Amino acid sequence: MTRIGESLVQGRTGKRAEQVHRKRFSPLIAMLSLALVQPLAACAAVESAVPDKSFDVACNESIGFLKEYLRIDTTNPPGNETKGAQYLAEVLKKNGIEAQLFETGPGRSCVYARLKGNGKKKPIIFLNHIDVVPARADDWKHPPFSGEEFDGAIWGRGALDMKGLGIAQLEVMLMLKRSGLTLERDIIFVATPDEEVGGECGAGWFVKHHADLVKDAEFLINEGAFIDSQADGKPVHIDVGISEKSVLWLHLIARGNAGHASMPMPDSSVNRLVKSVSRIIDNPPQPTILPAVREYFKKIAPTVGEPLRSAYADIDDAVKKPETYQELLKDKMKSAMLRNTVSPTVFKAGYKTNVIPAEASAELDCRLLPGVGKDEFIGLLRDRMKDNTVEVSVLDWVHTSASAYDTECFRAITEVARKLTPGVPVVPTVAPWFTDSHWFRELGIASYGFEPFRIDAELLATVHGKDERVPVAVYKDGLKFLYDVAAMLCTAK
Ligand SMILES: [Zn+2]
Repeated sequence: MTRIGESLVQGRTGKRAEQVHRKRFSPLIAMLSLALVQPLAACAAVESAVPDKSFDVACNESIGFLKEYLRIDTTNPPGNETKGAQYLAEVLKKNGIEAQLFETGPGRSCVYARLKGNGKKKPIIFLNHIDVVPARADDWKHPPFSGEEFDGAIWGRGALDMKGLGIAQLEVMLMLKRSGLTLERDIIFVATPDEEVGGECGAGWFVKHHADLVKDAEFLINEGAFIDSQADGKPVHIDVGISEKSVLWLHLIARGNAGHASMPMPDSSVNRLVKSVSRIIDNPPQPTILPAVREYFKKIAPTVGEPLRSAYADIDDAVKKPETYQELLKDKMKSAMLRNTVSPTVFKAGYKTNVIPAEASAELDCRLLPGVGKDEFIGLLRDRMKDNTVEVSVLDWVHTSASAYDTECFRAITEVARKLTPGVPVVPTVAPWFTDSHWFRELGIASYGFEPFRIDAELLATVHGKDERVPVAVYKDGLKFLYDVAAMLCTAK
């Protein structure tokens, strides 16, 4: 999930920063291909966190990794992520970082690696998932497992979700290792299978069996939010996910008498089920504005035109005005942060047109803001349904919490953004979807969705869609952004 366009690297100034970066990268240069490396002095004029020439070498190296990684088919189901895990572990090992594989099931493995620091600060985890969603090759312009470059982009299922970020995380570790700088924190790399179908056999398994390997961490960076950008690639706001909505899947069953459909029964199972669900649809949950969401809208207000600008600036007031609220709901993604949601998805009843069935059932996909309890929400739905004879049971419940955003990690992202994309706000978000971060928040680790890639609407549509790709320019700027954040968080000032 990201965007394209202008270079993220603009307006970097500051002699001190330049000196720091020079120091950080001289060992890197020594270790990279001599044919490609330029004298560091040649980079001194570039006011960047990373000298451009040596960075380009690292970037090209990791694009090579990404192409190879995309060629490994880890479509889930079934996953077969062990092949991807072995590839990642091999790259890490070849570059001097010991990696362990943990088998979570047949053909399925996690990767764990730790780049040691001096322990002055607590570790940060780079989390990514190895599996991808299915891709129908016939729908794609280029084969989904080609890993080839076309039109300035690297194509392949997972380029954005999320092999691209996984490789960027890995490369940042290699860059920091080669830099020879003193790391004040360990950087832990965790790549998992099974995220796309819930993570029980991936991050869930890892946290259950090997929490001891990561529980000393202070921060985690994972997928979940990206740099919201215009079609021309200009970044609009940099989203950092501090939480995700909890998942509550419900099963509703109405039971009654069966009968001949020529003689209608007003209280048939189907009638009562349909009416109950209909009442929920007609009375959706009211908006609830979390402090982070209030800040999100306030900060992005200047990036939109009227009338949304005024509405975003005072979102509490805006949701109270029916017309304005309806306008806000048109943006499905942003409005999902304003309220708990219910989507009826599966209906089952009957087997013959002229038979009234004795049973009718429905499934509801409910997504709850962090802090809302399962029982509390079921109670609210029962009130809406106004029919106690309809049974409600829980199919699935994934409870999420929120991470604080007055932390060193969030501040580092903000600080790097200030240098790389001056004037573009960094905002906390609550993702309507969920990721593997929740497994780690349960361990008390402040976990953030942070994909430093510029994503416009067209690119976003390729995630879980067709023609998924990451433009090279987007990847490159994202790698630089991630490196700067990691360097700020991990190296001695
Ligand atoms: Zn993903």
